[in-house]
This record gives sequence, structure tokens and C-alpha cells, in this order.
Amino acid sequence: MTPIKAEPNAQVRLLDVQAIDTALAQLEHRRRTLPEHAEIARLEADRAALASSLVAADTAVSDLELEQAQAERDLQPVRDRLVRNQQRIAAGSVSDPTALAAMVEEVEHLKKRISDLEDAELEVMEQLETETSGREILRARAAALAETLAGLSAKRDTQLNELAADVAERRAERDQLTPELPPPLLALYTKLGVSHGGVGAAELRQGRCTGCQLDINAADLRVFRAAPADEVLRCEECSRILIRTPHSGL
Ligand SMILES: [Zn+2]
Repeated sequence: MTPIKAEPNAQVRLLDVQAIDTALAQLEHRRRTLPEHAEIARLEADRAALASSLVAADTAVSDLELEQAQAERDLQPVRDRLVRNQQRIAAGSVSDPTALAAMVEEVEHLKKRISDLEDAELEVMEQLETETSGREILRARAAALAETLAGLSAKRDTQLNELAADVAERRAERDQLTPELPPPLLALYTKLGVSHGGVGAAELRQGRCTGCQLDINAADLRVFRAAPADEVLRCEECSRILIRTPHSGL
């Protein structure tokens, strides 16, 4: 396989492109792993749970309100009848003693019935009060949660915008550099980057490949030393493009 040729300057430019690509990968990693993502997801789950608790609380409150209204409706005819009976007794309009006695007895019965219905209604009202204040607590919690979420979302968005601006800046720098590279070199670099964790090109530094961090053996170093400056070298160990610099130790 004929080695690719590229001017030494272009080869060094490739290291700059690699540095930008590494920075871009780090920016992407930061974008994906912002702590706010996990925090927001957790709070969204809390919000969903709270929303269904609120639905249940709304249902309980409205059921109890209906029950109280029904209790009031049940009481009204009994109260009316009591008042009517009491008026008739007070007016002396019942002359028959047996009928009067029955009416007096019914008055007592109606009073007892009213008292029982009122006790039942009171119990419903107490439950209603408990449910209503429980719902208020849930509503307050939901409002606080919504506020926390809004704050976190804003914080996340600010960071995402900053990261996006950094990415745009790096991409612009990269776009300035890549036209200086011979297309076959850039293509090889891109291909190697995909299979080598995003690092397709590495500096040969002090006799070592900075891609795989292995020392180049003496025989390969001799070959590298003899290679023309425009020949693109490859690491025998990791096959990455090896770039010579004044620090290569050749
Ligand atoms: Zn290597």
C-alpha cells in the first residue's frame, strides 16, 4: 500500500484538527451529561406523581362537596316539617288530644332525626376540611416544584446555549483548517477516528505514539527517520496517523 503524501505543514495542521475534534467530543459529552438533565428527569417524575395525587384530591373534595349538598337537601324537608308541626302545636290548631300527642311525639322524632343528619353532615364537613387542606398542601408543593423545574430548565438552557456557542466556534475553526489538508489524509483520519475512539491522528513524541501511548520500537524508529518528510507515518501498534514534530525524538 502506497503511503499517503502530505506536506509536513499539512500534517501538523491535522494535529490541530484532532485537538478541535477532541474538544468537540468533550463538549458533546458535557452536553449529554449536564447534571440538570438527571435532576430535571427526577423532578418531572415527581411532578407527574403529584399531578395524579392532585386529581385524586380534586375527586375526593368534589365527592365530599356533593355529599354535603345532599346532606343539606336531606335535612331541609325534615326541618320544614318540624317547624310546621311546632307552629301547629303552638297555635293550638290540633284539638284532638290523640292527634296532638302523636304530633308532639313526631316533633321529638324529627328533632332526633335532624340531630342525626346534622351529625352525619358535620362528619362529611370535617372530612371535606381535611381533604381540602390536604389538597392545598399538594397544590403548594406542585407550585414549588414547578418553580424549581423552571429554574433548573433555565440553568440547563443557559449551559446548552453556551455549549452550542463553543461548538459553533470550534466548527468554524475546523472549517478554516480542513481545506489545507489533502483529501486522502483527511479521509484516512476520519476513518481511523471512527474506529479509534475519535483519535485518528497522534503526535510522535519522544519516540512514543501519543495515540496508544506505546514506545515505537527501534526498528520502526529507524524507518521513520529514513522516511521522507511528506510521507504520512502510521503507528505499527494502533495504526493511527503519526505526526512528526520537533519533539518527536527522531
Ligand atoms: Zn499508536
